[in-house]
Amino acid sequence: MKQEVRNNKLANTSGRLRPPIIAVLGHVDHGKTTLLDAIRKTSVAAREAGGITQSIGASVVATKGGPITFIDTPGHAAFSKMRSQGAKVADIAVLVVDASGGVKPQTLEALQIIREAQIPFIVCVTKMDLPSASLEAVQGQLEKEGVSFEGRGGDVPLVSVSAKKGIGVNELLETIILVSEVKGVEGSPEANLEAVVIETSQSKGGPLVSVIVRCGTLKVGEEVFCEDKTTKVKGLFDEKSKPISVVLPSEPAQILGFEELPAVGSIIRSVAEAVPFQKQETTPQRPHYAGLKEGQIPVIIKAKNAGALEAILANLPKEVVVIDSGVGDIYESDVLRVKASSAKYIFAFESKASGDVLKLATSEGVKIEIFKVIYELFDKLNEIIKGGQVEILGKAEIVASFPFDKKKIAGCKLQEGKIAKSDAIILMRQDKEIGRVRIVSLKKQKTEITEAKNGEEFGILFEPQLDFAVGDMLVSVRK
Ligand code: GDP
Repeated sequence: MKQEVRNNKLANTSGRLRPPIIAVLGHVDHGKTTLLDAIRKTSVAAREAGGITQSIGASVVATKGGPITFIDTPGHAAFSKMRSQGAKVADIAVLVVDASGGVKPQTLEALQIIREAQIPFIVCVTKMDLPSASLEAVQGQLEKEGVSFEGRGGDVPLVSVSAKKGIGVNELLETIILVSEVKGVEGSPEANLEAVVIETSQSKGGPLVSVIVRCGTLKVGEEVFCEDKTTKVKGLFDEKSKPISVVLPSEPAQILGFEELPAVGSIIRSVAEAVPFQKQETTPQRPHYAGLKEGQIPVIIKAKNAGALEAILANLPKEVVVIDSGVGDIYESDVLRVKASSAKYIFAFESKASGDVLKLATSEGVKIEIFKVIYELFDKLNEIIKGGQVEILGKAEIVASFPFDKKKIAGCKLQEGKIAKSDAIILMRQDKEIGRVRIVSLKKQKTEITEAKNGEEFGILFEPQLDFAVGDMLVSVRK
C-alpha cells in the first residue's frame, strides 16, 4: 500500500486533500462507543486541550498522521437508518467486530450499508484482550461473506484492537490515514459549498442543525440553500459550543438560523448553487390515525433529535399507530392531542416534559413514557402490545340511556358471550377504545344479577362515568 500512497500523493500535489470522514459501524455491544472513546483519548488534541465536548454528531480527532473526522454512530439496530446516512456522508467505514462474539446480524447489515455506499472500509476486530478472542475465526466468517483481506488476495485492511487496554488504536488511526491517502479524499475550501445534515435538535435559541462540510467553506452571515428553502446562517458552533465564523471541509459544526428542521441526510449548498428540491428517501409513512382496529396502539412519538425520531418511526412494531410525531420536548398541546384522539400514550426518547405538562397528563389520563435507552422504549411498547392482546369474553350494544341519580345507566343488549359483574369492561365507539370502566351495578329489570348471558337485555351503571352514546359497545375482557 505504501508505494500506492506515494503515487497518489504525487498525483494529488495540486489537488486539495481534506481529512477523511469516518463512520464506525457494527453490531450492538461490539465496542463502537468504547473504541471512539479510546480514539479520543489517544488524540493529540484531547491530550493537549482536554475540555468537555458535547456531541454534535461528529468530532475531529488530531492524530500524528493528520486530523480525522469521526461521525458518532449509535449502536442499536433502530439506528440503522441513521447509520446508513452516516455511511453516505462518510469517506471510509470502520466495521467493528467483537473478537469473541464474531460476525452477528448487524455486522452483516453494516457490511451491506457499506457496500451500497460504495466506500472503502477497514475491519477492526475489537476486544482482543478477552481469552476467547479469535482473530482467525472473525476473518474466516467475513471471508465467507465475500470480504477479501489485504495479504490474502484482497484490499480490505484488518486491524486488531483492545479498546479497553488502548492496544492497536494508533495502528487503526494510521490505517485510516493510509486508506484516505490511497483514496485521495478531496474537497477544496474554495469549491462550492456542500455540507451534509447529520443531526438536528431544538434548542432554546431555535433549531440547531449539525452538519459536516464536505467541500467549500461555510461562513456566518451567508445565505445557504437546503431542501427548498434559503436560510441565513446566524451562528456557527463547534463541539465545545464555542462560536466560530467559518467551517472548512471535513469539519463538523452546528448551524443556528434555520426556521424549520431539515431532514437528516439533506444537503446544504450555497445559494448560487441552489438546485430544485428533490425530497430524500424518507421513512415510509405509517397509517394515519383513523378508526383503530383491535390490538392497535395509538401513540405520539417525540425525540430530542431528528435522527433518533426517524430511527424510532422506521422500527415501530406494526401494532403501533402514530397519531403524531415531532422533534423536541413534550408540550401541553401533545397531551391534549393524545386526549382528543382517545389514545393514551406519549413515547419520548430523551425529550423533556415540564412539571405542568406532567400534571396535565395525569389529570387527563395520558401516560408519558420517556426513555434514555432506545431499546427500552421498544421493550415497553412490546409489553403494552402483549397486554393489549386481551381475551374478549362478551360484547353488548348500548341501546338506551336512562338518567339515574345525576348519573346515567346504559341499557344494553348482549350480542355475544357473557358479561359478568367482575369483568373488566372496555367502552368502544366505532372500533375505537373510549376508555375502561368497572361495573358498579348490573340489573335485569329490577333484579341485581352477577352475569348477563347471550341475548339478554340489562342495565349497567359503571365507573368512571364515561360519556357513552347509544350505539356504543361494551366489551368484557379477562382481567
Ligand atoms: P457498542 O454498543 O458497539 O457501542 O459497544 P460498547 O462500546 O458500549 O461496548 C459494549 C461492551 O463491551 C461494554 O461493556 C464494553 O466495556 C465492552 N468492551 C468494549 N471494548 C472492549 C475491549 O476492547 N475489551 C473488552 N474486554 N471489553 C470491551
